[in-house]
Amino acid sequence: MPTVYLSLGSNVGDRAAHLRAAIAALPQAGVRVKHLSSIYETEPVDFLDQPWFLNCVAEAETELDPHALLEALQAIEAQLGSKKEFRKGPRKIDLDILLYGSETIATADLQVPHPRMLQRRFVLTPLAEIAPHLKHPSWPEAVSALLDHQTDPSQVRKL
Ligand code: ADP
Ligand code: MG
Repeated sequence: MPTVYLSLGSNVGDRAAHLRAAIAALPQAGVRVKHLSSIYETEPVDFLDQPWFLNCVAEAETELDPHALLEALQAIEAQLGSKKEFRKGPRKIDLDILLYGSETIATADLQVPHPRMLQRRFVLTPLAEIAPHLKHPSWPEAVSALLDHQTDPSQVRKL
C-alpha cells in the first residue's frame, strides 16, 4: 500500500475542531493515518489579507488510487461544509495531497508532488517533524534540508 502525505489547513471558525473533524473522517474514507505532526499556527501566504491558519501534516496509507484519494478528500471538505470563496482564500478546511508514494502526477485536476509545497514553510515544517529524511525523485534533497534552505519568510509557530 502506498504511503501518502496530506496537508490539512483551516483558518475559519474553530480551526482546531475543523482539523480534528477532518482527521476523524479519514478512516471511513479509506485513509489510515500512521503519523500526525503537531499543529502549527501559520501566517497566510499568496493571499495575505485573511486570518492565520492552523496547519498539520499526516502520513497515511490508502488503497485508493490518487484521483480517488483526491475525491475522498474533497468529499470530506464538502461534508465539513467548507466553501471556498476563491482559491487560496479563507476556508474551514483545506485538504491537499502532498505526496503519493514516489509517483509524479501531472493532470488537469491533480498535481503530485503538490506543486507549491517546496516553497511553503507551513508545509515543510510539519512534514520535517514527522518525515525529515523523506525524499521524492524530483527533489534535490530531503525534507529537513529543504526546510533548512527555505526562503519563505512567513511565520510558522508550533501551537
Ligand atoms: P489551494 O489548496 O491551492 O489553496 P484549492 O484547495 O481551492 O486551492 O484548490 C483545489 C483544487 O486544486 C482542486 O480542484 C484540485 O483539483 C486541485 N489540485 C491539484 N493538485 C492537488 C493536490 N495535490 N491536492 C489537492 N488538490 C489539488
Ligand atoms: Mg486545496
